[in-house]
Amino acid sequence: MIKYLSTRDNTHTITSSQAIINGLAEDGGLYIPENLEDLKLDYHEVIQQDYPGMAETVFGKFFSDFDEETIEKVVSRSYTGKFSTEEITPLAKVEDAFVLELYHGPTCAFKDVALSALPNLMVESMRMNDFQDEILILTATSGDTGSAALHGFSDVPGTKIIVFYPEGGVSETQRLQMVTQDGKNTCAVAVRGNFDDAQSGVKKLFREIPKPCDGVSLSSANSINIGRLVPQVVYYFSAYRQLLDMGEIQDGDKVNFVVPTGNFGDIMAGYFAREMGLPVGRLVCASNSNDVLREFLETGHYNRKRDFHKTTSPSMDILVSSNLERLLCFVCGVERTKIYMDLLAKQGEYTITEDELKKINEVFSGVACDDARGAKAIGDVFRAEHYLMDTHTAIAWAAYEECRDRGEEWTKDKTVVLSTASPYKFTRAVLAALGEEECPTDEECMQKLKKVTQVEAPVPLQGIFERPICHTDVIDVPDMKSYVVKHAEK
Ligand SMILES: *Cc1c(COP(=O)(O)O)cnc(C)c1O
Repeated sequence: MIKYLSTRDNTHTITSSQAIINGLAEDGGLYIPENLEDLKLDYHEVIQQDYPGMAETVFGKFFSDFDEETIEKVVSRSYTGKFSTEEITPLAKVEDAFVLELYHGPTCAFKDVALSALPNLMVESMRMNDFQDEILILTATSGDTGSAALHGFSDVPGTKIIVFYPEGGVSETQRLQMVTQDGKNTCAVAVRGNFDDAQSGVKKLFREIPKPCDGVSLSSANSINIGRLVPQVVYYFSAYRQLLDMGEIQDGDKVNFVVPTGNFGDIMAGYFAREMGLPVGRLVCASNSNDVLREFLETGHYNRKRDFHKTTSPSMDILVSSNLERLLCFVCGVERTKIYMDLLAKQGEYTITEDELKKINEVFSGVACDDARGAKAIGDVFRAEHYLMDTHTAIAWAAYEECRDRGEEWTKDKTVVLSTASPYKFTRAVLAALGEEECPTDEECMQKLKKVTQVEAPVPLQGIFERPICHTDVIDVPDMKSYVVKHAEK
């Protein structure tokens, strides 16, 4: 059985279901499998199956205290009928590379792949551990996570969810996606403040009222939970299988992945796929102008003391990339990871050794592209191939082009660029990238993008401007606590 330990303490281990319930370890660390060797398999076992079959095999490996029947139930509840394509994550050939579309889920962002599964994993974990409390999920969001989490937890028995978003701080489309989400156990509330206010408010609640009332425990849906990371491993296998089916690679060929990165969760899943035995070549971490990871992967120096840039790829606007801690732990061990994380907390920076960096660079490299480079990629690719990318995907595409044009050796192998959002989630920036003028409202932007590109808007976004509003609360930051307590008691 695969056991999990914290990245900051290797003295005791827990089961996967306990790790899913806990989310974050008590010492502040993240849960990782005790021994990567235990994850190894023959990748043919995985890729011979359809997507749900692949998910069952990967989940079964990581979550080895779940029985087979439970895994099947979790996968079926998470993916059956929820995605608009049968492949779940279809692969498109674009110029000399491939784009893996991760955004065909209910809220049109890649977070759906994981947040469809996490609630089901959590419910089963609670059952397996005789966990009696109801779980109340608290999430602060700057946009994408909120709607995917609300949708994922909607009407999942034994759970409730509250999403806090900054009033006026998310796009109209993102706000409507949240406030029109039905489900008796869901709640989206605007906070008078910015995203940081909402986020630190939530963090404070976890410290102050872990049990807001009798019979209710707080939990989190963000990407530190191992139950959110593992579902993302599956689509790396799916991409490989699709390349084989398309006749683009021979069995055993290495494939590179370029990943638009924020919290380092998506790309970390690629590392797990590689460790399991999938022939993965390079993992390229693409950043926007918040290029803390590019600098780290080039120099070994992580420094969060820098200006924060608001970009047109907001889900990548991050200075502290929490999942990097998992990679650090695999490469440097628990003792050194603890030292680095202490330094990060106290001094805002740390530097790993040359040897450690060398190990990381055997697999990972970092490239950063600014908004202008991303916009140019959207325009160029659309004109050349009639293929429309969103602003996050465009950063990864531009990073791939840069490496290819530099003649980097690995670009001779096939490369997959991960596409993390529908272009219709970011219509204003996409229109601008195509040289079109913006419209006053998001609804008009959507119509215009459709007219200009002849690319259909995804169904879940089409009706959003007419759907009934379910959530109207607006609160001040100091009132978050009483709001949560009241909601917990309901
Ligand atoms: C969350 C998100 C990312 C970043 O993914 P990480 O796992 O945090 O690295 C990239 N693009 C979009 C659209 C996202 O929502």
